[in-house]
Amino acid sequence: MTETVQAKETIGFQAEIKQLLHLMIHSLYSNKEIFLRELISNAADAAEKLRFLALADESLLAEGGELKIWVDYDPEARTVTVRDNGIGMTRQEVIDHIGTIASSGTREFLKSMTGDVAKDSQLIGQFGVGFYSAFIVADRVTLETRKAGTPAEEGVRWESAGEGEYTIETITRPERGTCVTLHLRSGEDEFLSSSRLREIIKKFSDHIPLPIVMKKEGKTEEEVVNRALALWTRPREEIGASDYEEFYKHVAHDFNPPLAYLHSRVEGTTDYTLLLYIPSRPPFDLWDREPHHGVKLYVKRVFIMEDPKLLPRYLRFVRGVIDASDLPLNVSRELLQENRTLERIRAGAVKKVLGLLEDLAEKEKDKYQRFWQAFGTVLKEGIIEDSKNRDRLARLLRFASTYDEAENQNVSLKDYLGRMKEGQEKIYYLVAENYQAAKSSPHLEVFRTKGIEVLLLWDPVDEWWVGHLGAFEGKPLQSVAKGELDLGQLADANEAKAHELVEQAYAATIAKVKQILGDKVKEVKLSRRLTDSPACLVLDAYALSRRMESILKAAGQEVFTAGKPVLELNPHHILVRRLQDEIDPKRFHDLSWLLYDQAVLAEGGQLEDPAAFVRRFNDVLQAAFREAEKNSAGSAGGNNH
Ligand code: ADP
Repeated sequence: MTETVQAKETIGFQAEIKQLLHLMIHSLYSNKEIFLRELISNAADAAEKLRFLALADESLLAEGGELKIWVDYDPEARTVTVRDNGIGMTRQEVIDHIGTIASSGTREFLKSMTGDVAKDSQLIGQFGVGFYSAFIVADRVTLETRKAGTPAEEGVRWESAGEGEYTIETITRPERGTCVTLHLRSGEDEFLSSSRLREIIKKFSDHIPLPIVMKKEGKTEEEVVNRALALWTRPREEIGASDYEEFYKHVAHDFNPPLAYLHSRVEGTTDYTLLLYIPSRPPFDLWDREPHHGVKLYVKRVFIMEDPKLLPRYLRFVRGVIDASDLPLNVSRELLQENRTLERIRAGAVKKVLGLLEDLAEKEKDKYQRFWQAFGTVLKEGIIEDSKNRDRLARLLRFASTYDEAENQNVSLKDYLGRMKEGQEKIYYLVAENYQAAKSSPHLEVFRTKGIEVLLLWDPVDEWWVGHLGAFEGKPLQSVAKGELDLGQLADANEAKAHELVEQAYAATIAKVKQILGDKVKEVKLSRRLTDSPACLVLDAYALSRRMESILKAAGQEVFTAGKPVLELNPHHILVRRLQDEIDPKRFHDLSWLLYDQAVLAEGGQLEDPAAFVRRFNDVLQAAFREAEKNSAGSAGGNNH
């Protein structure tokens, strides 16, 4: 028995963990056996970490080099234990790793939960449940651990009933590594069975490249109960879909099956094996500045590191294993970053992943749609980041467009080119705040009238990558909300003439509006892009949009050009025609501001003085109604006579 040498401390869980525990116990009930997969998975990771560290410091393995996982049960005590002789944890590490949730993404997610178990349980599958899954079947969990390389007196015991707090104490623990003991809830006796435990291990953990050991039925001798062979080293023909799936859940710490995977052995100047997966849903640290998870690097089946930087950032959602034969085993993370062999492997892996995505896009369109919904925003970053693969990435982009007025994004640039009008030289697009604002933007009016397709974008990253791509298959990308309306050969010479005449007629009115709006706008112009709306705002061809400006400001960047917009007015609209005839200066003034403010609103922008807008709006409506009343009273009187 171990003996307590430091006073027990009782520590409250982070609020989020309480929530997570509660939810887990209530919602994963029909799937409770997964606790064993999660604990074995952690034990395997701990063993791999130690194996890697021992490459540089053999003494870490002084207490015995064969790394294993032991699963045992005790019918009398009603416990199940999972034990490993891996890296172990210090007291502080136990507090940091078992008592806190590190990923800010997960924290955000938990904050957004409703408290309604039925609703929230749909969400819980979206992130790795990990260690806490022990509480699905246990009403008390004891974890004893000691970090490799520390003395026996620095062992740690952690214990919790999963209800808001845990205790932690320092113990003497002769063995290195971690032992997790589950005190089963009543009614969970099914797990006190050798055959049941073996069945679960076979199902979930057969491919763990480490022996999982149990006592022989009714005996004290031990035997290995899993295949203990790294899955990726086996020939593809031998591996079933469910093997691939279970292995994914282990490497990715994901509860859901993957969307797609590739398994490939590359032989040539460098030999390596890839087993890479696309998850079916975004992990919660997808937008963390420093994501924790990524692809795992092995050298000849020895785990080296899990590093989100193994693949380029825009593929940070990819999970799985890269096993290289030609890397030195004792490399440091820093050295790896500039290793030529690794460079080559990385380039090869990127090509394979893009190939997998191309395959999906071509042959499994539904799956590709699901991929795009989950990771499209991230993949777009590749256009900026990876100039070598820019063309391939551009072909993988998907958009909403005016061709198919549905929010789903399934138009490719190739589709767009195929539908271009005779004489059309550019690919037109619009970036807006959100789908709704894009779809009903006044900037689209002339394009709708002429039947020219416009791509609709609303991701924060969109303006960035569009600038980097510039053109696709020789056709430049052109924003419909920036610069002069340029329809190239699609423009109509007669229309242009007519427009010039109207411009002359409106010159004085336009000048007055500009004077009233002052420095709110760079210029006021008559529009050629509007057919239905009275007004819209247009940016200089190279100006930052207001949205981009606020994104950059939020990111703490200096923004030089507060790009002032041009206000365009539609001379065929009754409000603008009214300006031309308005003699009352106050009305003219109010109408000018109304036109400007509604152009801001139509873009999804915020008014500086909403109250003034409402007042002017009501004044104009009232005046119009009064006039209508007067007219109808006049005509009613006429009838009486
Ligand atoms: P995840 O494995 O997804 O990070 P867990 O909740 O399962 O989340 O585990 C949290 C952390 O606790 C792990 O990342 C690891 O650092 C530590 N940990 C858990 N189990 C063990 C173990 N058996 N040995 C060493 N460390 C462990």
